[in-house]
Amino acid sequence: MAPVGSIESKRMKQDEIQHRRDKIIDKLHLKDDLGDGLEEATDILQKYLKERHMNVTPERQFILWTIYHLDAPFDVDALHQLVCQHRTQVCRATVYNNLILFTEAGVVSRFQPFPNGTQYFEKNIRQKPHGYQICRRCGSIKVIATDVASELIGAQLNKTFHLSQFCIYALGLCKTCYNTERREVKEKDKLKQREKDSQKKSASPKKK
Ligand SMILES: [Zn+2]
Repeated sequence: MAPVGSIESKRMKQDEIQHRRDKIIDKLHLKDDLGDGLEEATDILQKYLKERHMNVTPERQFILWTIYHLDAPFDVDALHQLVCQHRTQVCRATVYNNLILFTEAGVVSRFQPFPNGTQYFEKNIRQKPHGYQICRRCGSIKVIATDVASELIGAQLNKTFHLSQFCIYALGLCKTCYNTERREVKEKDKLKQREKDSQKKSASPKKK
């Protein structure tokens, strides 16, 4: 394993981030038959923007349209890449600022399963309660049905509580990352054993 903070470990970290992003983008598909809730979301957003004397720009509309035609949560980089693939270049800051704006308007929800980790976003209007299966190493994410759990937890909520977002995470390791981690542990153990052996050798008195 490369020591923390070394160039090698930074490169590994970057590789891992890129790998995670590729995985998210691989799973993101624009589907024409989705888009449920888009009309309502557009109305809410328009009202929100009007109150703040802001405009509904074509870019803003397209970003919202894209979000409502995706079938999985995404991070800002994945959405940025996707928007640029389907439209003229939009800068990352524009995509991010709009995501924050949409979150504040309530048409997009945001969650961050790991402290200081990636922020994920997804559409928020007319969405059934659901959960996520997230790999803590590569960040790959899968939506899971939580009908029974949602009902049980819903029954525990205060009757006057206005629920806006429901989140259940199952954190763990995907198959690839589980195998990688096991391999790394084995290699670490081997290295430790080798160090111990060589220490023993150098400590033992030399035979004449
Ligand atoms: Zn993984």
